[in-house]
Amino acid sequence: MERGSRHGISRGRSDAASAETAKNRKRSNGGSRGERTTIMATERTYIMLKPDCIRRGLAGEVIARIERKGYRLADAKMMTLDEPILREHYAHLKDEPFFPDIVEYMTSGPVLAMIVEGENAIRGMRILMGATRFEDAEAGTIRGDFAASTRYNLIHGSDSPESAEAEIRRFFG
Ligand code: UDP
Ligand code: MG
Repeated sequence: MERGSRHGISRGRSDAASAETAKNRKRSNGGSRGERTTIMATERTYIMLKPDCIRRGLAGEVIARIERKGYRLADAKMMTLDEPILREHYAHLKDEPFFPDIVEYMTSGPVLAMIVEGENAIRGMRILMGATRFEDAEAGTIRGDFAASTRYNLIHGSDSPESAEAEIRRFFG
């Protein structure tokens, strides 16, 4: 009954949405009481509260926004980064003239490394964070509300499933 009304629109068609639903249904646990509980596909992303976020006392505010959105903290730890790990993490920027400034910034104090989990969490966290360029970061986003420069922008978030996997491995082994 519920299935009929929810998916009636695509009945008889094999569109992406019903394929996705079928995939998720396969992952469903069936429920111990026999009901069909659909477990939506969750993602894990690597989120890091940068030294300015910790220094400014904004960790609680930022974590509250992440949790209010519906994402969960799967793991978290304070870390102090060094240049070698930043050369890996920011490999795409290592030839930029401002790379030494990024290293100085990111080693200037502890960071809070986190694994954040939830539906569509990789892209969803990027939206919650706001744009890289501070002038493009919209009000209501973490960077839009709190960052006043492109460099000191409080938070890192993986930009793709491949990055998320590599970064979680890099920081959480
Ligand atoms: N950054 C900077 N100047 C720039 C671009 C980036 O200082 O012109 C810093 C900034 O802290 C940014 C980080 O380098 O968050 C990594 O840059 P990336 O392009 O990966 O942006 P992000 O993925 O963090 O949005
Ligand atoms: Mg990036």
